Amino acid sequence: MLKGKSAIITGSTSGIGLGIAKGFAAEGVNIVMNGFGKPDEIEKIRSEIEAMGVKAHYNGADMTKPDEITALVEDAEKTMGSVDILVNNAGIQFVSPVDEFPPEKWNAIIGIDLSASFHTVRAAVPLMRKQGWGRIINIASAHALVASPFKTAYVSAKHGLLGFTKTVALEVAQNNITCNAICPGYVWTPLVEGQVKDTAKARGITEDEVIKNVLLAAQWTKKFVTVEQIAGTALFLCSDTAQNITGTSIVIDGGWTAA
Ligand code: NAD
Repeated sequence: MLKGKSAIITGSTSGIGLGIAKGFAAEGVNIVMNGFGKPDEIEKIRSEIEAMGVKAHYNGADMTKPDEITALVEDAEKTMGSVDILVNNAGIQFVSPVDEFPPEKWNAIIGIDLSASFHTVRAAVPLMRKQGWGRIINIASAHALVASPFKTAYVSAKHGLLGFTKTVALEVAQNNITCNAICPGYVWTPLVEGQVKDTAKARGITEDEVIKNVLLAAQWTKKFVTVEQIAGTALFLCSDTAQNITGTSIVIDGGWTAA
């Protein structure tokens, strides 16, 4: 059903975005990659995706720069012929007490984790309306629903992203376009994997104990979410079954926000 469609996935050079890119490519979706990284490593990923039998194009737009974001959407349409699916995934984090939070970090997090989605959606919606079909998926977080101390910017951006998701959904509801969010708990990415090893060493406990008792203290399954589970959920949101699912969020957090 998705074969031959095209997806922009922001922040797809690593972690969740890359997992979504591979999951979509496996279903025949052409991929516009975005994100930072070493050029040779990005090219390796791009060619691996292309080897899955789809078109794969890289655009290095900086998600803090509105002009570059608009140009990314234009480039995607030019290269792939359409923008059918938009996954707003690029994100950063910074942890600090509110009274010590550097304003430039606040601005960067609000810029990348919230405002970038406004700029991509703003540019993509007219294209989706014209073609009469579109799927917008915003990668939010359990932190779109609950707070943790020292994450003011991240929690504010992700809560905002959920409000943005609902509002866009209403505006495009009659154009065969849906807009939803996915709210993951802790996801197993290379970044987290490194943290487990370092924390185990620092605390003198096993890696299993770090996972269960430190990182996943709030995640009732005591298991990380995987990038494949996020990709599968994103694919579901693009399926015919999900046609009437819009303006909502799917929480994948091992029970964290249920408690
Ligand atoms: P990651 O660090 O592995 O990947 C982030 C991606 O965003 C990378 O490709 C990076 O290059 C890109 N990026 C960062 N700044 C950018 C910029 N200015 N312009 C363009 N691209 C930029 O992180 P991840 O864990 O895969 O996170 C992806 C998304 O999932 C984020 O929005 C994050 O908030 C969200 N999320 C992650 C977790 C988790 O536990 N890992 C949990 C909930 C939500």
